[in-house]
Amino acid sequence: MTSLFDVGSSKNIKDVYEEINSCEKCHLFENRIRDYHWRGNHLSKLMFIGEALGSMEVKLGLPFVGRSGKKLDSILTDLEIDVVRNAFFTNIVKDRPPNNRNPFYDEILACQSFLLKEIHFIKPKLIVTLGRVPSNWWANGKQYEWFTYYPEKRWFPVWHPSYLCRFPNKIEKWQSEMKRILTELKFIGE
Ligand code: SF4
Repeated sequence: MTSLFDVGSSKNIKDVYEEINSCEKCHLFENRIRDYHWRGNHLSKLMFIGEALGSMEVKLGLPFVGRSGKKLDSILTDLEIDVVRNAFFTNIVKDRPPNNRNPFYDEILACQSFLLKEIHFIKPKLIVTLGRVPSNWWANGKQYEWFTYYPEKRWFPVWHPSYLCRFPNKIEKWQSEMKRILTELKFIGE
């Protein structure tokens, strides 16, 4: 995917978000009701990538602020990750697909340049993809296993927090696997 890292005229992440908020590259822009912004700290080297905005997210113009986001925040806070200062949250597709459906492949293709630019400017030390849609995208056709660290891609694919809302008995596993990688990469425990 390296050849896709073309930042065009963007000089920083704020430029990227100006482009996002005027983008009409796919029809999902019709669901935009306000400008979109990243959540967390763009200077953090810990990046979480979700799928797309949900109903609460589209109202606030921020990723991961609905039920799943609150669950994610609470799990990460338990792991001593400050979700305001020590993490960056974004989505693979910046607008909201109707009826909460998964984004289509052509929508992901239309939108992926923004996420690649975010990765370019942030230069994350660890990219955590949340759920199948962003994980399949970052895998780029390769097989992968949940909770496995792929150093060449700086990547750790994990279950989406909405799954943890539905199956709270899975939280302990998610948390312990995340703790392992965050400790190994020295995000926590120093
Ligand atoms: S989803 Fe992405 S590509 Fe589609 S209109 Fe929104 S910003 Fe543009």
